[in-house]
Amino acid sequence: MPTRAMRCPSCGDERAFETPPCAEHGSECTELACRDCGTALTVAAVELLPRPRRAALGAAA
Ligand SMILES: [Zn+2]
Ligand SMILES: [Zn+2]
Repeated sequence: MPTRAMRCPSCGDERAFETPPCAEHGSECTELACRDCGTALTVAAVELLPRPRRAALGAAA
């Protein structure tokens, strides 16, 4: 199970997080759970940035 280090709001420090088993999203699940306290964070809220507006390209030809 891949883990990543993120700051846990409950532990107040950097902890190893891993994707918990998720029946809803499977391996696509964007949740990560603290291995120490179990606090779940959503990756999307942490690291998904707004996409560049590439849709504008070619639209006004
Ligand atoms: Zn999920
Ligand atoms: Zn924690």
